[in-house]
Amino acid sequence: MQRDLFSPEHELFRDAVRRFLAGEVAPRIEQWEARGTFDHDLFTKAGRAGLLCPTVSESYGGPGADLLYSAVVLEEGAFLGNFGLSLTMHSEIVTNYFQHYASEDLKRRWLPRMVTGECVGALAMTEPGGGSDVKSVRTNAVRDGDCYVLSGAKTFISNASVSDVVIVVARTDPSAGARGISLLAVDTRLSGVSKGQPLTKIGLKAQDTGEFFFERVRVPVDHLIGEEGRGFAYLMQELPWERLQIAVSAVAAAEGAYRATVDYVRERRAFGQAVADFQTTRFLLAELKTEIRIGRTFVDDCLRRHLAGQLDAQAASMAKYWCSDLQGRVVDACVQLHGGYGFMAGQAIARAWVDARAQRIYGGTNEIMKELISRDLDL
Ligand SMILES: Cc1cc2nc3c(=O)[nH]c(=O)nc-3n(C[C@H](O)[C@H](O)[C@H](O)COP(=O)(O)OP(=O)(O)OC[C@H]3O[C@@H](n4cnc5c(N)ncnc54)[C@H](O)[C@@H]3O)c2cc1C
Repeated sequence: MQRDLFSPEHELFRDAVRRFLAGEVAPRIEQWEARGTFDHDLFTKAGRAGLLCPTVSESYGGPGADLLYSAVVLEEGAFLGNFGLSLTMHSEIVTNYFQHYASEDLKRRWLPRMVTGECVGALAMTEPGGGSDVKSVRTNAVRDGDCYVLSGAKTFISNASVSDVVIVVARTDPSAGARGISLLAVDTRLSGVSKGQPLTKIGLKAQDTGEFFFERVRVPVDHLIGEEGRGFAYLMQELPWERLQIAVSAVAAAEGAYRATVDYVRERRAFGQAVADFQTTRFLLAELKTEIRIGRTFVDDCLRRHLAGQLDAQAASMAKYWCSDLQGRVVDACVQLHGGYGFMAGQAIARAWVDARAQRIYGGTNEIMKELISRDLDL
């Protein structure tokens, strides 16, 4: 599909991302999948290649470019275990809390080293007791002199075991509901911070997903991001773009699976003809191609709106749920068209199938997306 969203400069960057992933990620992905995490030096290499933190401003060492550069990273990483998401969790989610809300001191302390990849970022909202209901977080931060004393546990956190800084969603006022939630930038080397082993997952195996335990960690008060009690509001402001990132990677992963399947059915023969020549195959591919195009059109429109500062939360929730559902439908059909080979470990299409599943869960489950959309139905 012809797209007019990206400039020739974006396309040059796309070539660089593609080369980087082919040279640095693809050859190591099986080794990382076996370990359940990747090497920290992936980030320093990505930093050297200029792939990290495209939107961080020049004052903090970044290129100060537009978010379409991040969309390129998401798209190119999508058919490789959604690898772009590990990079953009750092580049486009964690950095945004610093850029948009943190003090000048915090920005200077973390952003330049996040741009180079020396320092890897994570965001910790979800707790063992629940992730959907962010307002009910139990991790607490109690003021004691010039520190907060942070206690609690977080789970399912992307980049956890490789992280150097984690933004922790904590309750600073037990009686104030959503207004009692704050964000703290926590150096993961602080005394009392521990990380579990990377969690063993059924998919996205090379991505790092882990736990944090905070035992009376003394976090200096000036590591508070923005104002105390505004954490929930900051999360709500950032979530639309975080959800759109999932939609961008979902459509790209669906497209990658579709293309790989077209190549496969052209080559594979049954009953004396190519599998591509069966009408059922062509009709199925026609449906997939149509749906991918619908998804691509919607996501590109959301990206345009976000660039113009006009992406509404409802559209972002729609894009997240519909495109991750689309990804699930497409990869499932593509496995079917691969026959038995589609079910074999190590096959790219089999990996795409298991990796797709988490997209409907993280970033707010698809049920939560529908709940959010349904709050504004003009009934
Ligand atoms: C690979 C991976 C990476 C992740 N990375 C991060 C990360 O970096 N940072 C982070 O903070 N979290 C992360 N998460 C956690 C993720 O965001 C949560 O798993 C998700 O928000 C759901 O929370 P939960 O697992 O506690 O499910 P629960 O909240 O227990 O939900 C269980 C089920 O109940 C449904 N449900 C809950 N409430 C409602 C409702 N009101 N209406 C209808 N249905 C409802 C849900 O949709 C779901 O089907 C990650 C998860 C995975 C799998």
